[in-house]
Amino acid sequence: MPPGRLGMTSAPEPAGALAVAVAEWCERARRPGGVGAWLRAAEGAGWCAHPVRLAGGVDHADTRTGEVRPVVDSRAEPDGVLLKACGTRRAARCPPCAEVYRRDAFQLVRAGLAGGKGVPESVGTHPMVFVTFTAPSFGPVHARRERGGTVHPCHPGKLGDHCAHGRRRACWHRHDGDDPILGEPVCADCFDYDGAVVWNALAPELWRRTTIYLRRVLARLVGVSRAELGRRVRVSYLKVAEFQRRGLVHYHAVIRLDGHDQSAEPGPVAPPDGFTVEMLAQAIREAASAVTAPLPLPLALASGGAGGGWVGPRLIRFGWGEQLDLRVLNLSADHGDQGEGEGDGGDWPAARLAGYVAKYATKATESFGAGLDRPIRSAAELDHLDVPDHVARLVRACWELGGRAGLAGLGLRRWAHMLGYGGHFTTKSRRYSTTFRALRAARRSWQNRRRHGSAVALDRDGHVLPPEGVAVVALWEYRGSGYTTAGDAWLAAQMAVQAREMRRVAREELRGAA
Ligand SMILES: [Zn+2]
Ligand SMILES: [Zn+2]
Ligand SMILES: [Zn+2]
Repeated sequence: MPPGRLGMTSAPEPAGALAVAVAEWCERARRPGGVGAWLRAAEGAGWCAHPVRLAGGVDHADTRTGEVRPVVDSRAEPDGVLLKACGTRRAARCPPCAEVYRRDAFQLVRAGLAGGKGVPESVGTHPMVFVTFTAPSFGPVHARRERGGTVHPCHPGKLGDHCAHGRRRACWHRHDGDDPILGEPVCADCFDYDGAVVWNALAPELWRRTTIYLRRVLARLVGVSRAELGRRVRVSYLKVAEFQRRGLVHYHAVIRLDGHDQSAEPGPVAPPDGFTVEMLAQAIREAASAVTAPLPLPLALASGGAGGGWVGPRLIRFGWGEQLDLRVLNLSADHGDQGEGEGDGGDWPAARLAGYVAKYATKATESFGAGLDRPIRSAAELDHLDVPDHVARLVRACWELGGRAGLAGLGLRRWAHMLGYGGHFTTKSRRYSTTFRALRAARRSWQNRRRHGSAVALDRDGHVLPPEGVAVVALWEYRGSGYTTAGDAWLAAQMAVQAREMRRVAREELRGAA
C-alpha cells in the first residue's frame, strides 16, 4: 500500500491521476457546502459507482389554497444535482449496488429455507431439496475430475485417436482448479457452438416446462389428478442461473413442497402427510430426465449435419444434461443465528446455503472478462471481443444464428453478450418467501423513520406520504450518469470499500458477542 492512503485499498493509481484528483477536491472545498456536502450526497446514493444525476425537485401544493412549497430542490445540492444509486445487481458494474442486491437476495433465500421476514420458521421442516440442473454436452471440454480427494485425468483415451481436425481426442492432464484451460473445448472445431447458444436461449423455457412436469409426476406418484394435487400441495422454488466455464448456463434451485391451505394463516404451511422429501426428490429426477423444449423449426430441419447436442434423442428437442446434483435439505434443527454467511463466514447450514446462492445473484458473464458488459450492437464489435477465444466463438454463433430467418424469436443477437441466455438470473415462485420489493420497502421505511421520525406516514413501498390536503408535484431532469470528475469517482470507490469493511467488522463483533 502506498504511503498516505491510510486504510484504503485499491490498485495503485499513477501519481498524475492522484494529483488531478487532489486539485479537484481543493476546487470542491472552495464551493458552498465543501467536500462535506458532497460526501453526504454520495453516501446518500450508497457510494454507487455510477449514480444517476438528477436536476429538479419536489413541491408540495396545498389543494385548497393553491400555495406551493418546495420540499426538495437539487439546487441546494453539490453541483446542483441529486445523486441516485444506479441500483444494478451486477457486481462488475457497480460493487456497492450489487452488494445491496446480494444482501437482499441472501435474506430472500434464507427466509425460504428457515423462515424470517414474515415467513414462519416451520418452512425448514417442509420437504426441501437443493438441485443443480446442468446443460448437456456440446463437445468434450477440459475438466478437473476429482473424486474422493483424487484428481483423475481430464479425458483419458487411446493414444493415436484423433478427431477429423487432426487433434488428439484424449487429454491425460490432471488439471489444477485454476488451470485457465478448464472449460475450453478439447477441439474447438468439434465443439457445437450453435447447439450451445441455442440451448442457453431455450434454458428458461426448459425450466418452465420442468416446473409443470414436476407437478404432473407428483400427481402420478400420489395417485391423484393434477387438479387435486393443486388443492393439496404447492411447489415453491427459488433459482439462480450461473455460467459454467464452458459457457453454458446451469441453474441452482431450492425446491420446497408446501401445503395448500386456504385459511388465513400467514405464510406457507406444511404439506399433508404422505408428501415426503423422497417423493419430491424422485419427482424432480423423473421430470428432469423426461422434460424437453422443442427447437425452432429451421434448426430442427437443419440439425442433421452438426455435432454433439443435435443428434440422437435431441434431434429436434433439447433437454437437461445427464448430471443432476440433488441434495436433500434438512434445516429443521437450526435456529437463532441471523448472521450472513459470506463464503466461509457462516457456520449455519441455511445461512451458508443462502450465502452460496445469493453470490450468484450478482453475477452474469463477468467471469469471462470485461468484454461482455453490454449488448453487442454491430458485427464490427465481434472482431474485437476482449474474451477468451471459446467465449468469442459463442458470441459469434449467437450473432450468426440470430440473423437467420425464423430464429428471431430466440433473441440470440439481443442476448449475444449473455451467450444467448435471455432469462432472469434470479427467479422464484410467488410463495417461496418474501420479495425484493418488500425488502426494499422495509429498508426505505427504516431510513425514512430515522430521518423524519417514527410517526411519519409511509406508503407500502416505504415512501413518505404527503400530509392531508397536499398534492405532490415532482419534476426531475436527467443530467447523466456517473461522477463528473475522476476525483469524485475515486473517492466514492474508496468510501464504498471502507463502508463494506465496517459492515464486516460490525458483523464479526456481533457474532463474537453472541
Ligand atoms: Zn450503483
Ligand atoms: Zn484436459
Ligand atoms: Zn476436431
